[in-house]
Amino acid sequence: MAALVSDTLSRVSRDVVGCERCPRLRRWCREVARTKVKRFRDQGYWGRPVPGFGDPRARLLVIGLAPAAHGGNRTGRVFTGDRSGDFLFAGLHRAGFASHPESVGRDDGQRLRDCYIAPVARCAPPANKPTPAEIVSCREYLLREWALLPDLRAVLVLGRIALDGFLAMLRETGRPVPRGLAFGHGTTHDLGDGVRLFCSFHVSQQNTFTGRLTPRSFDAVLAKVKRHLARG
Ligand code: SF4
Repeated sequence: MAALVSDTLSRVSRDVVGCERCPRLRRWCREVARTKVKRFRDQGYWGRPVPGFGDPRARLLVIGLAPAAHGGNRTGRVFTGDRSGDFLFAGLHRAGFASHPESVGRDDGQRLRDCYIAPVARCAPPANKPTPAEIVSCREYLLREWALLPDLRAVLVLGRIALDGFLAMLRETGRPVPRGLAFGHGTTHDLGDGVRLFCSFHVSQQNTFTGRLTPRSFDAVLAKVKRHLARG
């Protein structure tokens, strides 16, 4: 995981926030930030790309899909200020990775311990669906973070698109990707060099409201992650 000597996580964040590579997404995020939604009409929206967030010494990397229009695109922090974030951070808190069970704003005192969160696309997409080309355009940022997180031992992907985006990024690093990697809630795969991949259904309301993903089934995946990390 060799990083460019001059690169830093702060530089990656700065580059993300200033990125304009995907015109469709940049237009959409600005428009959402301008029009807002009724319940947040008194708030200022971030409206820019959303950088990764977490502990620079993290052993766990959580990879999501993209910020939500009225979540990360409003607050400026991934999985912050929406129902998906409520579910994710509550789980991370129960597992000891997050200081607080809620994640409501950039000034809420939330701290991640041993964990870093990064989406495969950094701008909120219409209908929560970035195009494959937009994910490719955004890959550079995940690549750089991957190189700048030297202690990583576990990767938790939230959903199949996050898995595909992560594996494509991994191939670009030149690291061999095992064949036949299947996505399924709770499946795990050895990535070599002591790094293990864990899969979970995405923490979207579509899954959590329907009971496809429950706190218990999410905790079970995080327990596997913790057992792996405890083995050193
Ligand atoms: S999705 Fe990524 S590459 Fe596209 S504009 Fe946003 S930050 Fe830039």
